Amino acid sequence: MSDIVLKPGKEKSLLRRHPWVYATAVAQAVGRPLAGDTVRVVDSRGNFLAWGAFSPDSQIRVRCWSFHEDERIDAAWMTARVHDAVARRASLAARTDAVRLVFGEADALPGFVADRYAGQLVVQFLAAGVERWREALIDALAAATGCADVYERSDAAAREREGLAPRTGVLRGTEPPAEVEIVEDGVRYGVDVARGHKTGFYLDQRESRRRVAELAARVGPGAAVLNCFSYTGGFSLAALRAGAAHAVSVDSSADALAMAARNAVRNGLPEAAFECRVSKVADAQKALAAEGRMFDIVVLDPPKFAPSAHHVDKAARAYKDVNLKGMKLVKPGGYLLAFSCSGAIGVDLFQKIVAGAAIDSGLEFVLLERLAAGIDHPMRMTHPEGEYLKGLLLQRVA
Ligand code: SAH
Repeated sequence: MSDIVLKPGKEKSLLRRHPWVYATAVAQAVGRPLAGDTVRVVDSRGNFLAWGAFSPDSQIRVRCWSFHEDERIDAAWMTARVHDAVARRASLAARTDAVRLVFGEADALPGFVADRYAGQLVVQFLAAGVERWREALIDALAAATGCADVYERSDAAAREREGLAPRTGVLRGTEPPAEVEIVEDGVRYGVDVARGHKTGFYLDQRESRRRVAELAARVGPGAAVLNCFSYTGGFSLAALRAGAAHAVSVDSSADALAMAARNAVRNGLPEAAFECRVSKVADAQKALAAEGRMFDIVVLDPPKFAPSAHHVDKAARAYKDVNLKGMKLVKPGGYLLAFSCSGAIGVDLFQKIVAGAAIDSGLEFVLLERLAAGIDHPMRMTHPEGEYLKGLLLQRVA
């Protein structure tokens, strides 16, 4: 067992149980720990701080498992964390068979993500520590869920920063079908777990899909929806199934929109109600404005414009622009749902950006609600970096 000795004063964040030790905080590694080894993190005087996993190639040199010296980090410990995480989501089973079962740091398993799509599990090992415990983690997940099919999607950028090569493919059971069908709040979606974004689906937008369905019902028959950055059509489908008359889904990916169209069929929606535009959102917004189209509900869910703190200024301009153009397409009395999944942009800054867009639009909007991911994307209070998705529900004043 190796000790990771911190520089004097660098123990403060660990005393507050923040789970990351940056390379710059480390004075020395006693012994020769290898990637993924469990190490004892101690302060400059040798006092115990945490158990963690060593990552020699990452700026995050240690990710902590536990702050309790009497805990043993072994397969039983991993199993217990998986069972805790799965139990935390149990209430979602009444609504959906698609759930993020484990969400990294939030569930005390830094770098491990596990999603369930009906009978299919999809996992990501994005750090050296969980990579080391992969068999124990998969065993525990299979036992906790009864799912025999496990697919790996460890192809996220985070894994590269850990010095780990990408890895994808079947881990247990059989090859997943091209489209795994899930049902969420009564709506059917196809999920391509091998090639889709993330692990195939934006599970983190479940609560907002429900909100869009409620808004569509509130607007009543005839509701028109514009879903910008639609991916496989989640918000459009939720709105149409709740009674909206028409939805326009815009995405630059033809593959995503092809899946969206198949999802419309899957839900028995009339073809005419489901309009898809393969286009950059900026171009589609311009074209729709030129066509004089207006919508009762406009959803703006762009990709992460700010991958890190360095990109915040540029991202802020991009968020403002997309919101400004989106606002002009909202009918009086209609709704705008504006999202950001940039962890580097906090909710206060995002609200300021959207307020700036509202001012420039010359239109009057009120903020009805702040939106966020559901309970399967929790955030550990000691790890604020875990929060990333934020949304604002605005209504245009009639
Ligand atoms: N709202 C979706 C998730 C959006 S992810 C859902 O709930 O499922 C972001 C999407 O934006 C991706 O599908 C990506 O293909 C698309 N995209 C990225 N840049 C774009 C652009 N400039 N114009 C249109 N679509 C874009």
